[in-house]
Amino acid sequence: MTKLGLLNSVWNKVLTTVLPAQCVGCGVSGTYLCDDCLASALWLEEPQCEMCAEPGVASPCSRCRLRPLAVDGTVAVFVMDGVIRKAVHQLKYRNLRALAPILGRPMADALTQRGVAVDALIPIPMHPRQLRSRGYNQAALLAKEVGTRLEVPVEQAYLRRQRWSGPQVATADYDSRWANVAYAFQCDANVQGKSLMLVDDVMTTGSTMHSAANALKEAGAAQVWALALAREV
Ligand SMILES: [Zn+2]
Ligand SMILES: [Zn+2]
Repeated sequence: MTKLGLLNSVWNKVLTTVLPAQCVGCGVSGTYLCDDCLASALWLEEPQCEMCAEPGVASPCSRCRLRPLAVDGTVAVFVMDGVIRKAVHQLKYRNLRALAPILGRPMADALTQRGVAVDALIPIPMHPRQLRSRGYNQAALLAKEVGTRLEVPVEQAYLRRQRWSGPQVATADYDSRWANVAYAFQCDANVQGKSLMLVDDVMTTGSTMHSAANALKEAGAAQVWALALAREV
């Protein structure tokens, strides 16, 4: 861990020890996200595209028919909105790592419900530069939580980010997002014949998942699925 990462980690400990936990949704104390707020969040429901998890459409959706994702399917739990948007922001930018166990639980449940069994979970890696400044990868925190709950190993080393693609929020339009992450990932591990699950906090167009899945399939993976906490719609 870098100095900054270590400092972040210590600061996170201090914050979560000294300050009482407060729900990011309603402010009730004792938890970082209460059961009521989680229950009233916008859960992704059927009908939805099984490839990219876009809600309210037939499967596969028109976009996936036109440009199929390299994933075998996507499992997403929430619509990126309301309390979930707040929680992701806190987890990602405000160092509130204590949210990961709370958010990982419904992700694990969703996988069980969909009945997808995989050999390993792979968090979407951050670029080393980005990782150094944040100190942690929120996707890895979520993957760890899901892995523990489902007893599936997390293999961070299976995928490497080989190119700085800049923050996705800065490249808004659809085509530039795709161009931006194409060939961003590299797999040097032996994944021959394996069934794998990519894990990320937020999925927008699916371009990141697509690019990561491509790298794994080129390396011989038999199946690559995508799991996201939230889906931008
Ligand atoms: Zn609440
Ligand atoms: Zn789709």
